[in-house]
Amino acid sequence: ASGSHVPALIIGSGYGGSVAALRLAQAGIDVHIIEMGQAWDTPGSDGKIFANTKSPDVRSFWLRTKTKQPVSSFLGFPIDKDVPKYTGILDAEDFSGITVYQGRGVGGGSLVNGGMAVTPPRARFGGVLPSVDANEMYDTYYPRARAGLGVTDIDQSWWETADCYKYARVGRKHAQRSNFDHVFVSNVYDFDYMKAEQAGTVPKSALDAEVIYGNNAGKKSLQKTYLPAAKATNRVAISPLHKVTSVTPRAAGGYTISIEQLNTAGDVVATKTVSADRVFFAAGSVGTSKLLVKLKATGALPNLNNEVGKGWGDNGNVMCGRANHMWDPTGSVQSSIPTTGIDNWAAGGAFAEVAPLPTGIETYASLYLSITNTPNRAEFSYNASTGGVDLSWQKAWKQTSIDMAKTIFNKINSKEGTIYRTDLFGGTKQWQDGLTYHPLGGAVLNKATDNYGRLHGYSGLYVMDGSLIPGNTSVNPFVTITALAERNIENIITTGL
Ligand code: FAD
Repeated sequence: ASGSHVPALIIGSGYGGSVAALRLAQAGIDVHIIEMGQAWDTPGSDGKIFANTKSPDVRSFWLRTKTKQPVSSFLGFPIDKDVPKYTGILDAEDFSGITVYQGRGVGGGSLVNGGMAVTPPRARFGGVLPSVDANEMYDTYYPRARAGLGVTDIDQSWWETADCYKYARVGRKHAQRSNFDHVFVSNVYDFDYMKAEQAGTVPKSALDAEVIYGNNAGKKSLQKTYLPAAKATNRVAISPLHKVTSVTPRAAGGYTISIEQLNTAGDVVATKTVSADRVFFAAGSVGTSKLLVKLKATGALPNLNNEVGKGWGDNGNVMCGRANHMWDPTGSVQSSIPTTGIDNWAAGGAFAEVAPLPTGIETYASLYLSITNTPNRAEFSYNASTGGVDLSWQKAWKQTSIDMAKTIFNKINSKEGTIYRTDLFGGTKQWQDGLTYHPLGGAVLNKATDNYGRLHGYSGLYVMDGSLIPGNTSVNPFVTITALAERNIENIITTGL
């Protein structure tokens, strides 16, 4: 309620926010999480909480009037459609030159992501978080994060025969015939549940194309792991459909936080002011960066340093599809949960996830999301004329990523005598080079903050999310975000808040 005071306020309920909530509560500190998205705990008129990727509906997108699907056309036909404006689950947030996809709701990105739970190979860690001791990450915090998230590995003998992974086996065959490293990657999906889906004994989720608009079963999102553990302490409250707009020091000590309450059309129905001794920014790379840049520029938090807003990267994301020969069908039923990748990081700067294209019909397409070692970094800045925050990303920067991904796919295409698909991303584009699923940076560790996420310039303000990571993790990011949050919150609690 307006006017109330809390010891610790957390902005956002994704990985960073959920880790902070659990560990603060276990240390005896009462926590209130403010989350701008919905709770996602109530079924719609179809009896399901989440929409299917085969038929996006009002629940699918955050305050858009037209869907913006990452694979935007099929056989050359645009597949996006008009939808009513609604506080849906997936935000396709447009900046100049790039659309940043993010989860909205209690659980953040864990609601919409593919569950790929990848720990970067240790040799690459120095390039990911140069100021962090790798030994303590690999000995303590990565294992702690994997346990907290419920990370598991697929039964490879089942994978070898499952119809729903035919596409992945085709992906492996093509990778290996071109002498690339093919790797299995861990996931938070319950693979025993997936086996039951295939056996037909439980409602289908991964095997019914559910993923980026939520999974009605099977996936261990934060709603199944950190968040119930946090709530079980009886010290954690969550306010969904509440958006933080300002944080400023108050004379009596601590901070004043301004909050807008939203309805499901996105209208502001109330504004509230609360106070907190400590504020944890966990609004995601974009959410935290936008808040900090604006609060510094508008004088609410003028002492933040000049590193705020800098060091933002897209994890080098680019997508492409390959057109297979008729003798390499990828299957009409494809598990929406990826299990494999092609690792050409050392030689070519690319790690490609073998992705599903679960349309329900045979497509003869292999789809890939590549993570690449691009050096390009953008900066957020406050725009006084619009009152918004801009990002200095340039679309042409994706060419570096395309070139790195081509070190894999040009070679496979020439070996297999195949070509890139041109019917998936609008027009005749071979590459989806206008998006990222993996925003990282904007409040970089040991630059905008100390080496544990304490913001410079203020005491009692902390950053807990992907904005701490300087632009690239060389693999999918959420295990690293979670492990870093575990490391930082332990230090913050044990050395005094
Ligand atoms: P988030 O999880 O983004 O959480 C931030 C939360 O803060 C959100 O819930 C947001 O609504 C809320 N918020 C923002 N601003 C405010 C505000 N002002 N007030 C209140 N609340 C606010 N990563 C992987 O590792 N593996 C994958 O397989 C994978 N697949 C992905 C697929 C998709 C479609 C997408 C979009 C992402 C995927 N990712 C994947 C990326 C991963 O989900 C993100 O890296 C991760 O969620 C980021 O965690 P975070 O804690 O930094 O922030």
